Amino acid sequence: MTAQAARQEDLATVIGLEVHVQLETDTKVFCSCSTDAADAEPNTRTCPVCLGLPGALPVINEAAVEGAVKVGKAIDAEIPEETAFHRKNYYYPDLPKNLQITQYDAPLCRAGELEFSVGGERRTVGIRRAHLEEDPGSLQHKGGSIDTADYTLVDYNRAGTPLMEIVTRPDFRGSGEVRSFLAKLEEVLEYLGVFDSTRDGSLRVDANLSIVPAGDGVSEPAPDGADGEEVGDDGEIDEDALAAANRTEVNNITSHKGAEKALAYEETRQKNAIQRGREVEQETRHWDESRGITVSMRSKEEEKDYRYFREADLPPLRVSDWKERIDIPELPDARRERFREEYDLSEEAASKLTSTKAVADFYEDLASEFDPDLAATWVADNLLGELNYRDMEIATIEGRLDEVRRLVELVAGDEITAKNARETVLRRMLDDGDDPDAVAEDEGLGKTGEDEVQQAVAAAIEKNPDAVEDYHEGEGGALNFLVGQVMQATGGSADPGTVNELLRAELGDG
Ligand code: ADP
Ligand code: MG
Ligand code: ZN
Repeated sequence: MTAQAARQEDLATVIGLEVHVQLETDTKVFCSCSTDAADAEPNTRTCPVCLGLPGALPVINEAAVEGAVKVGKAIDAEIPEETAFHRKNYYYPDLPKNLQITQYDAPLCRAGELEFSVGGERRTVGIRRAHLEEDPGSLQHKGGSIDTADYTLVDYNRAGTPLMEIVTRPDFRGSGEVRSFLAKLEEVLEYLGVFDSTRDGSLRVDANLSIVPAGDGVSEPAPDGADGEEVGDDGEIDEDALAAANRTEVNNITSHKGAEKALAYEETRQKNAIQRGREVEQETRHWDESRGITVSMRSKEEEKDYRYFREADLPPLRVSDWKERIDIPELPDARRERFREEYDLSEEAASKLTSTKAVADFYEDLASEFDPDLAATWVADNLLGELNYRDMEIATIEGRLDEVRRLVELVAGDEITAKNARETVLRRMLDDGDDPDAVAEDEGLGKTGEDEVQQAVAAAIEKNPDAVEDYHEGEGGALNFLVGQVMQATGGSADPGTVNELLRAELGDG
């Protein structure tokens, strides 16, 4: 784009993603080596196939294909009768065969979409394709970073781990949308049980960004087919404008937040260049997380650089009947809607309660045993609130959900007050690892029995004749004062509502 079009309001940002996600399988995609390499010594999860030794032949892992078909169904993609594998040729030290087995003109999934919400609005982004491929190994740069290291070690434990590459249409208009999309994508993948976001390197994003002329009417509704407007109000982009725009591909993004930051940086960098009348180079850039900037890596490869050709060692795979055979579980959106109806929850509560599969499962567990409203308050507000405050997730306390269940039981059975349960017991459970009965006992939180409260009420009335008189003369604060006296006498363990009622009953009309 030239300097003529350089006013900020005339520029629109276009983003498309290539997202690599690791599919959870026990073994690698073309051999039977374990994918569980977290604590393994380097190069111990390898065999002739994933080391690319001459004569070794790949065999497709059924579980990886099943996972990919599930993803395809979840994003509403077209799954062809038959899919095939290609070799993508390039030289890199972490790629022992000097080629990567991937998919090219017959990917497993095409033309899907994913709906997500951003800033309270629903958005849908198109998925051009999603295909299965193998991960390369990993490099460890010693004594410096990629360009300054003394030497570099190669670990092939990762090589051959199944990946799915999900390529979106260039439908994003800002970095915030990308962040929300990635969160939703991970949520769907976790619901499917094919993905583990806590695993190192399980999500890697290449983000493409370009700045295109927006025409005059980008913020005004455009009549159908209006000329001179490359990005319409509905977000449709003129294909020619897309092709003409120089874009950069930012690599090395490994988190939602990283994607948002890298793209915000890149957007500003490109807009500044355009405003100064400079051309944006079409190139691959590296996201430097610690410095918060993108740096130029190399000019962008073109497709022909990879000399794609059919992988002759793997026959085409007929997947037509797999689609029918493989079922997928209820996905987050459907579950959210069901929660709203079945448990009569607000949109906000239902969203929180379906934010991850673990949260939703735990909620349904509690709702089947206790009042669904009480369960909703406990999971959506109390538990998630306290976890969030401590930078914890439900997964962090997976083994202790029974203790949380017990705490809710204590509240439901009126054995401790809701306030004490949250502010004392739950907090101590999370901070000190104590169990609810122990905390309740230790802090003396057992709700005071009716008799004891009744006695405290009688005592408060007897000891405070002035307040009683004020009460009968209609002074509003008097009752509160008496409630306070009873609460004090019972060490805060009585239920204020009950105390209030008992006092009124005892005092007669005010
Ligand atoms: P390549 O083969 O060069 O990687 P593709 O056409 O396969 O290019 O697209 C790769 C990614 O780039 C896709 O996610 C796509 O949405 C995105 N993309 C295409 N055109 C643009 C553009 N003008 N600006 C931003 N992203 C784009
Ligand atoms: Mg690319
Ligand atoms: Zn192997």
